Amino acid sequence: MTKFSALSLLANAFSGHRNWPEQWPDKEPKPAYDVIVVGAGGHGLACAYYLAKEHGIRNVAVIDKGWLGGGNTGRNTTIIRSNYLYDESAKLYDHALDLWDGLSQELNYNVMYSQRGVMMLAHTTGDVQSFKRHIHANRLNGVDNAWLTPEEAKAYCPPLSIDPRARYPILGAALQRRAGTARHDAVAWGYARAATKLGVDIIQNCPVTAIRRGPDGAVTGVETARGFIAAKKVAVSAAGHTSVVMESAGVRLPLESFPLQALVSEPVKPVIPCVVMSNTVHAYISQSDKGELVIGSGTDQYTSYSQRGGLPLIEHTVAAICEIFPLFNRMRMLRKWGGIVDVTPDRSAILGKTPVTGLYVNCGWGTGGFKATPGAGHTLAWTVARDEPHAANAPFTLERFTTGRLIDEAAAAAVAH
Ligand SMILES: Cc1cc2nc3c(=O)[nH]c(=O)nc-3n(C[C@H](O)[C@H](O)[C@H](O)COP(=O)(O)OP(=O)(O)OC[C@H]3O[C@@H](n4cnc5c(N)ncnc54)[C@H](O)[C@@H]3O)c2cc1C
Repeated sequence: MTKFSALSLLANAFSGHRNWPEQWPDKEPKPAYDVIVVGAGGHGLACAYYLAKEHGIRNVAVIDKGWLGGGNTGRNTTIIRSNYLYDESAKLYDHALDLWDGLSQELNYNVMYSQRGVMMLAHTTGDVQSFKRHIHANRLNGVDNAWLTPEEAKAYCPPLSIDPRARYPILGAALQRRAGTARHDAVAWGYARAATKLGVDIIQNCPVTAIRRGPDGAVTGVETARGFIAAKKVAVSAAGHTSVVMESAGVRLPLESFPLQALVSEPVKPVIPCVVMSNTVHAYISQSDKGELVIGSGTDQYTSYSQRGGLPLIEHTVAAICEIFPLFNRMRMLRKWGGIVDVTPDRSAILGKTPVTGLYVNCGWGTGGFKATPGAGHTLAWTVARDEPHAANAPFTLERFTTGRLIDEAAAAAVAH
């Protein structure tokens, strides 16, 4: 496989860029693998890459019912940050942030990781107290996060309106400078290409219809649209459809699947230099490299598997954005879409072993799992390879819903992107 470099770019320029090799072959499944990963989103592909690279397990298949990166990985608004309240979350998301640094070099693929800063606006006394608590907790965990006055917030993001007469005036903001965005599908493509290079098979358009178990209860493989494929280890990383896949193995998960929407405006010249989030009015915004304003909100109110959502939520979100940024009042919106997000009762992920021997799960990332992609894949690969958790994912067990050791980021922050 060609290494991307200035030299290979120049060499291919002479042939009009017609001779670039295929980035990853579309494989037919083999009868058996050492490990099968269900779901070729960023998490599943990253898991396969780290299995091959760090644990020497290369006889791996990543199977997807659609095309790779066609799930939430290709539908999200790409906010990356690690300023979560609880020690467990800060550790896991910061592990991911460490891997984001240098990911483009690691994969030899430009994932366009941009540390432009994520600013979270405080509109009420409750917000101010909560964000300051987050900042202190983050500092104790070595996670950067700083308090800004309204004037400092405006200096960092000039189009912000800090008019004190607003319905939700800005009383200050928490800023994580190391946070930012990345190009979502480049992350999936980069991991896919790098994993393929190490021998991983990526099988697309092949729904997994059931997980099979032997008489001793252990996993024996998966049933797919192209027949049975054997494997002693199966890792399910199917986001909003995880509960459906896991049910076929007899494992019930505390998950609800909701549509989550996003939308983009017509492209304009660079206007927003960072990501701005507002939990109180439930809207957030950044600008893509194409110039579109990328806008997102909270989940729809109802559970559903349709990849679209209700218009009232979009209207509410756009109204909130216009109040924070009055200069966007006359912008036209270009398109909207939805993804199905998997939400746990405490809004934290489930990442680890299951009661079934050989079956592992990575889910419950809800509205905020893109930022975790390298960390989730890395710790899932560790858990699958060694049959024990990595220190970063050890608290994110399924058992916490029976023992009560919840990691309640839902109560800590109203929004979790
Ligand atoms: C609109 C929106 C905005 C978001 N914004 C952010 C954000 O700003 N920041 C952030 O951190 N996170 C965000 N998220 C959440 C984030 O996108 C997800 O948490 C993350 O991408 C999950 O990655 P994944 O690889 O686990 O899932 P996916 O990318 O969804 O991959 C799962 C794959 O499993 C496949 N699959 C499902 N069922 C089967 C089956 N039976 N057989 C085979 N394959 C199957 C699917 O086709 C899919 O490709 C957002 C999500 C949405 C929808």
